[in-house]
Amino acid sequence: CGIVGYVGGQSALDVVIAGLKRLEYRGYDSAGVAVLSDGGLATAKKAGKLANLGKELADRPLPDGRTGIGHTRWATHGGPTDANAHPHIDNAGRVAVVHNGIIENFAVLRAELTERGHTLASETDTEVVAHLLAEEFSSRGDLGEAMRYVCRRLEGAFTLVAAHADEPDVVVGARRNSPLVVGVGDGEAFLASDVAAFIEHTRDAVELGQDQVVELRRDSVTVTDFHGAPAAVREYHVDWDA
Ligand code: GLU
Repeated sequence: CGIVGYVGGQSALDVVIAGLKRLEYRGYDSAGVAVLSDGGLATAKKAGKLANLGKELADRPLPDGRTGIGHTRWATHGGPTDANAHPHIDNAGRVAVVHNGIIENFAVLRAELTERGHTLASETDTEVVAHLLAEEFSSRGDLGEAMRYVCRRLEGAFTLVAAHADEPDVVVGARRNSPLVVGVGDGEAFLASDVAAFIEHTRDAVELGQDQVVELRRDSVTVTDFHGAPAAVREYHVDWDA
């Protein structure tokens, strides 16, 4: 339902949680975050309101990190449980992904993954993406390239945002029939399903087009189509009050 991603110099957890709060008005049934730090990936996710996630984070704090992603979920596949909340991770716990929308062909992908030895931990359509990204990252060594390849295999409507512990300075996003906007700051960058999530930090935005992948770093935003060709995007300034 709501998606936020961050790369920069601030506490990723603080920026992501604040962004998710700005998206709360859309409604949701669960929330979660993932933060990258010191070569590791840590996640926290809870059914219920952001206050539940806040309590979980107070009881079990995440390590401090400068790269993070977060999600508020409106369940379509699998009930609103902690296990079904996003982010979803691969079996090695190296890649995390959040998703808005529906992966229509998830059952086929899930069966394939199970056959190749993956263990799926949720009932969501989303989780297959984490496992597929892990496989593609291990053969391609590049999260943007892995995302492009995975997106070519997906059917349905999706906004996806992912981060990998082996590429701690990058957040990758993708979209098809579901919104995704980039916020460009000074030495920091944001990704969100709605500009309201980052408007307190920057008003310089880039709107992704259909079937595009963005690689977000502190000082660069690279957008391609699902085959890696450079893509045209719409840059604009948000001049209304969120
Ligand atoms: N289909 C996904 C799920 O049920 C994403 C739902 C959403 O857009 O929040 O987990």
